[in-house]
Amino acid sequence: MTTVLEIGNASHRYGEDVTALRDVSLRIDAGEFVAILGPSGSGKSTLLNIMGTLDRPTEGRVLIGGRDVTTMSDRQLSSLRGRWLGFVFQQFHLTDGLTATENVATGLLYAGVHRRHRRALAVAALDRVGLAHRADHHPQALSGGERQRVAIARALVNRPALVLADEPTGALDVATGSAVLDLLTELNRGGTTIALITHDHEVAARVPRQIRILDGRLVSDSTSSGAQA
Ligand code: ADP
Repeated sequence: MTTVLEIGNASHRYGEDVTALRDVSLRIDAGEFVAILGPSGSGKSTLLNIMGTLDRPTEGRVLIGGRDVTTMSDRQLSSLRGRWLGFVFQQFHLTDGLTATENVATGLLYAGVHRRHRRALAVAALDRVGLAHRADHHPQALSGGERQRVAIARALVNRPALVLADEPTGALDVATGSAVLDLLTELNRGGTTIALITHDHEVAARVPRQIRILDGRLVSDSTSSGAQA
């Protein structure tokens, strides 16, 4: 099994007083779908930022594709993110003035893909999330669930080794959120490796592997055999 991400004994402090992560070790292999579950303030966003190379741990190491990212320059990190990682956010973070296709194509800006190939790849990614028929719509003309599908297509378009999703159903009603989880499950079955963070037990219960975080520590890591059925 190829290891996509490995965190070794990572701790993270904000200033002198706040320790947001304490001695966290974690490995994610290709093909996994992992939920990181914890209440507000438990350290989920801090962990996701470290997994996504948006922040460096104050101690410990982070390997992505076997390479230690804690010693890389900002320029090396942004190139690595463009090639290895895809991000999905709770509030979608789409650009209003761009069509769905153009929004998805922004996921290729740092991936070294030539301009003339970007549109075709973006349309193919929209097709994977069931939105090919909305390719020319702007975000304002799309429902919340459709916007999140566009954001997922943007995360997938560079064929990342790992998709990091920050409360991807948090801004959606239950039925729409459930459909977005169905889509993530389907993409995972197709081979996409996904880590999502959530405070919602029902969301986590639908994900095959669940890691619980409390007070900055990983307190359990379990794989439920039935979750993907
Ligand atoms: P979660 O995502 O689970 O809500 P966070 O990772 O955001 O948790 O926060 C973990 C802890 O770190 C909390 O105590 C929070 O107040 C603190 N924290 C997060 N970001 C900062 C920051 N930029 N400066 C200071 N403290 C922070």
